[in-house]
Amino acid sequence: MIKTINLKKSFGDKEVLKGVNEEITEGEVVVIIGPSGSGKSTFLRCLNLLESPTSGEVLFEKKRINQPKVNMDLIRMKMGMVFQGFNLFPHLSVLENITIGPIEIQKRTVSQANKIGEDLLMSMGLIEKANVYPKSLSGGQKQRIAIARALAMQPRLLLFDEPTSALDSEMVDEVLQVMKKLANDGMTMVIVTHEMGFAREVGDRIIFMDEGTVVETGTPEELFTSPQYKRTQEFLSKIL
Ligand code: ADP
Ligand code: MG
Repeated sequence: MIKTINLKKSFGDKEVLKGVNEEITEGEVVVIIGPSGSGKSTFLRCLNLLESPTSGEVLFEKKRINQPKVNMDLIRMKMGMVFQGFNLFPHLSVLENITIGPIEIQKRTVSQANKIGEDLLMSMGLIEKANVYPKSLSGGQKQRIAIARALAMQPRLLLFDEPTSALDSEMVDEVLQVMKKLANDGMTMVIVTHEMGFAREVGDRIIFMDEGTVVETGTPEELFTSPQYKRTQEFLSKIL
């Protein structure tokens, strides 16, 4: 579904991605782990062109998307992203946060968009929050709304950048449960997280990144029980 070929990204003279070759197939749940600063966020952001790669290719559904003529709105519509900091619009109600994309970008009618939004809120158990503003929500609720907002665009792929890192520990689980359900429903997902229990349980494949490269990739079983590389072993021994 999405593939990178020798993907490189530099900021100034600092090379942050040093040639990443990866492919995520339809329905796959890929979890990216690795130390802080290893390029995980930059990799995700290059996938949906929030960052423009310095060189190399990003192919989405077989088409190269890092090229000047690409329609970014269309790409981002097909690739939802969920951030650590939620990024909800503070001046919009919960329902409006979810419906703005379908209305403004997909040109749906307000009533169509409201139906989509209400169905999502219902499935998240948050319908009673439809008309409140984000500031009155807990972190866990905000993140579930952010996921609903991404889903409202009916994406082909969802990217998550440390979706639970900003949450108090008692709220982590409600967000992971939503993500687990999406995974079980067959959504293609790329998830950067430090939640190793979740990675092991829900990931089809783990990618370990360090210093701008993919050091090792494999099933959770392979990565967590018999990592092949010293750098992977060292990282895991620190966090597990
Ligand atoms: P991770 O998500 O694995 O912690 P990042 O992809 O955020 O790593 O960052 C990788 C490196 O790139 C870090 O050294 C970071 O400081 C640098 N970096 C990330 N974004 C920028 C930016 N917009 N400008 C300059 N340097 C950046
Ligand atoms: Mg990051």
